[in-house]
Amino acid sequence: MNQQTAYEGGCACGAVRFRARGAPGRVGMCHCMTCRRVHGSAFGSYAIFNRDEVTLSGNTREWRSSEHGRRHFCPLCGSVAFMVYTNRDEIAVPIGAFDQPGLFEPAYELWCKRKEPWLPKGVRREYDEEREH
Ligand SMILES: [Zn+2]
Ligand SMILES: [Zn+2]
Repeated sequence: MNQQTAYEGGCACGAVRFRARGAPGRVGMCHCMTCRRVHGSAFGSYAIFNRDEVTLSGNTREWRSSEHGRRHFCPLCGSVAFMVYTNRDEIAVPIGAFDQPGLFEPAYELWCKRKEPWLPKGVRREYDEEREH
């Protein structure tokens, strides 16, 4: 892992910014109903880093999206900012919020039981629901 590498991104209005150092531990897509609704899109896609590898600036609001999931968003523009967990030191940053495309490619897909039928199948590892972390 190259610790010199840093990836930056932020919300649509620019009030929330983040900077991730090093490579993400894993990169995946999620088709669950919460990700669909939060993004207003067919799926969510995330690069998952150790929490101490990501520095954040700007204020977010958060809500409890599952027992251990806390989803943060920008209160000014409503963009999905990131997701943290109360039971592990990880932060999930949406791929689409990074400043550049092409940084990360998902290796797996979660909650494929909620996947839109027009999306391609068999491209990467697919799980019906969650996977082990
Ligand atoms: Zn914003
Ligand atoms: Zn999800």
